[in-house]
Parts: sequence; structure tokens; C-alpha cells
Amino acid sequence: MTKRAIAHKNSVSKSPVIKKSVAKSPVPKSPVTKKSVANSPVPKSPVRRGKGPEGQGSGGAEGQRKTPVAKTPVPKSSVGKISLRKKSVLKKSASNAETPKNQKRQHFRGAKSSHDQPKIQPRPLPQTKYENNIPLLGLSLSQLTEWVQQQDQPAYRGKQLHQWIYQQGAKTLEDITVFPKQWRENHQDVAIGRSQILHRSVALDQTVKYLLQLADGQIIETVGIPTQKRLTVCVSSQVGCPMACDFCATGKGGFTRNLAVHEIVDQVLTVQEDFGRRVSHVVFMGMGEPLLNTENVLAAVRCLNQDVGIGQRHLTISTVGVRDRLSQLAQYQGQFTLAVSLHAANQALREKLIPSAKHFPLDQLMAECREYVNITGRRLSIEYILLAGLNDAHAHAIELANLLRGFQCHVNLIPYNPVKEADYKRPTPQEIQAFIDGLQQRHIAVSVRYSRGLEADAACGQLRASRS
Ligand code: SF4
Repeated sequence: MTKRAIAHKNSVSKSPVIKKSVAKSPVPKSPVTKKSVANSPVPKSPVRRGKGPEGQGSGGAEGQRKTPVAKTPVPKSSVGKISLRKKSVLKKSASNAETPKNQKRQHFRGAKSSHDQPKIQPRPLPQTKYENNIPLLGLSLSQLTEWVQQQDQPAYRGKQLHQWIYQQGAKTLEDITVFPKQWRENHQDVAIGRSQILHRSVALDQTVKYLLQLADGQIIETVGIPTQKRLTVCVSSQVGCPMACDFCATGKGGFTRNLAVHEIVDQVLTVQEDFGRRVSHVVFMGMGEPLLNTENVLAAVRCLNQDVGIGQRHLTISTVGVRDRLSQLAQYQGQFTLAVSLHAANQALREKLIPSAKHFPLDQLMAECREYVNITGRRLSIEYILLAGLNDAHAHAIELANLLRGFQCHVNLIPYNPVKEADYKRPTPQEIQAFIDGLQQRHIAVSVRYSRGLEADAACGQLRASRS
């Protein structure tokens, strides 16, 4: 799995000179009382300007331009704004959520597009495990209702709690002013599970990279990628990553732990509140390999769909391949997109780029991919990072086309984004076009994805949990 980005399909990267900024007040003010604002754990001002303690500034990547501190206007942070927009947000959310009716329709479409009818019955996406003292973020409406009743509150409080957590941006129970004051004071030890923004960098294209600090002090990165019609969030699923892909800054930094469900969902709410507009798409292409944290990732997918209101078809899970996990994922027959990062069409080269490929050979990965397509009827995205002089020759394009012949997929080519930890280079536009031609002549659907936020080190493969 890799990267991020999202991008301009087929557009040439006129890479903007970047403007970096250290954020203004990183998190919007809660629409609550003065007291609750004062009690908010969110810092009111950015942590520091300039390089972080890691000493890894954005100029670390070879050839990368130094850029001025941003005067660029940053997205407006305002939960209050979201509150004003509440009606429309809720309306849109409801229309995008998977209702039984449109689930049925979408399932039918998926099955019809496949050569094979689904062979198994779909399983419901997992819910967050309901245990005492876990953060409330990630719980469903029915679970929150059950919880408030256990706390001697009437059932309707569950709906209020759900709305304040997922739509109003409450950071603590103290923020939820519709609850009795005494009750809130008695439940100060109950966490909603929100993180704090430590730092944010803004690119000229308005892509924003966030450093988020979790409750145990660990730091992750998430990226907000706006366009006129969309706001996409690239979320992390782990602190670090054990897959150690050779071209990826995250992989060079080692692995610490999996993220919990609330830590994944929080990333989306944080970006939504900071931009003051609704998140439309989520891609699991940040730090970590999502299929090494499958249960929490799928529970987060359920929550983002049913509680936050993002349509499943606007969610993408990306993987470099983990044995037996694609088959496991297929059982859910979800409507989300699965993106498989190949990066090479032969085992020897793939092992060089992705060390974990030694334990999951290419032929076995492709067999699981075929099974996934047969069961779900969903087209796969195939991700392929183009590295100059390594996997971008015409012969590689032919090899990839032969591997994918007759396969229900779409290839996304990602020109390499430089990181200082690796010595790869991006191919020239002519070399990229020649690779595209090689695939298209063999009837492979292909597009190029130029990553956004390149100079903010927010692009595919550039995340390393440092300020830059
Ligand atoms: S090292 Fe991890 S985060 Fe980086 S590309 Fe590989 S799987 Fe993705």
C-alpha cells in the first residue's frame, strides 16, 4: 500500500511553489459555553514554527525547493460554521449513507458488472468493540444509546450524543451542553477520543498536512486534499509501518502500533472541522498497511459510512498485499474501492521494492485479487509507482499488461515523489507517456495520478510524522 495523494488525473504537475504555514489556531472552537472552551484539550495556538525536533525540514528531499512561510489563506476552522451548516450537512450525510434501499441497488449493480455472480452472502462491517472506558468516538447510534442508558440517562440522549460527536465536533462531554451539568461533571473521565493538532503545513494547492498527537503521545500524519467539488482525507491506519517499502519515508521509520477505530475516524473529523466543509472522500493511503489492522479499519469504514455519512463508494482501502486478507475482505462485499499496490510485475523486482513481498509472492497475490473480484464484482485499482530506470521501461509496461490481461482493473500510475531517505528518481514526462502508451496499446485502462501537496511532503510515500 502506499501513498496518498489523489490527484490530478492526466494533468501535468505544474508543481506549485509551496507555501508552508504553521497553523493558526489548529482546531476550531467548539460551539459551546465559555467554560467548555476553556476546558478543551485542544491547544489554541500552533506548537512551534519551523523545523521540528526531528530536524527534518521540507528541504530534505533532494532538489526540493525551499519555500517561504505561508501567507496563503488557510481553510477556515470553525465548528461553529459546521453548526450553521448543520441542516445541510445532515441532509447530505443522510443521502450519502448506505440505506438498505441503495445498498441493495448498489449490490445489484456490482454483481451485474461481474462475470460471476457473488458466491457468498455479504457480512456486515464490524462495529467497534463495546467495552467499558473506551472512547465514545467510533460507537454506533445504538451503542451510544445503550451507553447513555447505562449511565442513567433516557434513550433519546443517545441520539443527542451521536449528533454532538459526529456532527457538532464535541471534543469532551463537557462540550455537550444539552446534557445536565451535574451529569457532565460526574463523567469527566469519559473520553470522546479526539486528537490534538500539533502542526499543519499548507501547500499552494491548498493541500494541508497535519501532525496529530494521540492520547498516548504518539504522532501520526493525515492529509486534507481539497478541490472545488471534493474534500478528500488521506488517513493513516498505523503509527509507522512494518512493510518497509524501499521508496517510502514511512516505511523507513519503523513500526510502533496499530491505530484504534476512534484514532482513524478522528482524522476525518479533524480535517472536516479545520476546512469548515464536509469531507466527501477518504483514502486509506497514509501511514501504515491497512490490512495489518483489518478489524479496526473495517470498523472505521462502517463508522465513516453510517455515522459520519460518507458513501462507501467514496472510501478506498489501499494495500501492498497481505496473505489471506483480500479473501477476508471480500467476505464483507463492501462497496468501498480496493487499491492494490503492485509497483512491479515480476517477483524479483517487487521484492526489491517491497520486502514483505518475499512472504506473499506475486502469483499468490494475483490469485487473491482474482478471487476478490469474482466474489465482490468490484473493479480493482492497481497502483504502480514509476521509478526512473527501474520499473518504467517499455518492457515493464508490456510485462504489466500481460500480468493484468483480462483482469477487471484500472491502473493508476504514480510518478515517484522524492524523499531524502531514498535515492530514486521520477521519470521524465516523455518516459511516463511511453509507459502509458505501452499499456493502452494492450487495452489496459490507465491514468496518471500526480500527487498533491508534494512540496509540503504530503504526497504519496512522503509521510514520516515530522514537521516539514
Ligand atoms: S512502507 Fe507502509 S506506508 Fe509505506 S508504501 Fe509500504 S505499505 Fe505503504
